[in-house]
Amino acid sequence: MPSRRLASTLAAFDFDWTLIDEDSDTFLLDTLSKPISEKFHAAVRESPWIYAINESTQALGRSGVSRARVEWALDKLQMKPAVVEMLHYIKEQGADLYVISDANTFTIEHVLKRHGVLDLFSGVVANPAEWTSMTASQPPLLTIKPYNPASGPHGCTRESVVVQGQTCTFNLCKGQVIARLIRQGGYRHTVYAGDGANDFCPSCQLNSTDFVLPRTGKTLNAILSDPDSRAQITAKVMYWSTVEDLGSVMRISLSMIAAFQEHITIHSDIIISAFPLGYTRLSRVILQIGLQV
Ligand SMILES: [Mg+2]
Ligand SMILES: [Zn+2]
Repeated sequence: MPSRRLASTLAAFDFDWTLIDEDSDTFLLDTLSKPISEKFHAAVRESPWIYAINESTQALGRSGVSRARVEWALDKLQMKPAVVEMLHYIKEQGADLYVISDANTFTIEHVLKRHGVLDLFSGVVANPAEWTSMTASQPPLLTIKPYNPASGPHGCTRESVVVQGQTCTFNLCKGQVIARLIRQGGYRHTVYAGDGANDFCPSCQLNSTDFVLPRTGKTLNAILSDPDSRAQITAKVMYWSTVEDLGSVMRISLSMIAAFQEHITIHSDIIISAFPLGYTRLSRVILQIGLQV
């Protein structure tokens, strides 16, 4: 089947536990300093994650951990070949790629660059990070700031009973970010993949010809098991477990978007011809998104 070029399509991804099988913040601390990692885990019980991780990365620097050592640790964060392959595929199909993450820009861009995929992305939206020195004699410290400064809160109050409160952290509403990207980019179709509580809000911004790809067994999956929360999503929902599965559901999503764009009625032949797995598994996926085969 000849590949279709997608027009006006956005593919946006969460980072931790979506593009990588780790939490990049805790991975960094665990790799470089167990005592600072333990302090961090105590601190996040008292203060927002964004402040606790900034205090921890600064503490790393003050304890003598250099930038080169931080980069050495980040080099150990592996992006699986299936993810790299999927990202190249999406770009080849003509869609624009973004990361929308509550991790920091330095970590994300380092990992993407090391795997040769940074240039595929149109943008990385995350908490801004930079190396700063208080004095000329002091080694630079990795400083992470809130995406939304405390002086300019985003004001989103989306909640879920599953997390017993608001799903967006005070420093970042991914829903507002994806709405802005869609508006500014003029995107007609969007695919969003994520796993966490803060991936619920962007999922709610999408419409019936968009796709939400939640990871099974994680918080977003749990939130969607609540009918009131599930009812806030009009996009088609396709679940995935491993990153290899993510590649498969992504291919299905893009094939269906291509069909929407060509005003083709979705039927099984189109999807099967674009999908390398067997029919049995494909049928299960189609049933999950409620299409007629
Ligand atoms: Mg995540
Ligand atoms: Zn929000």
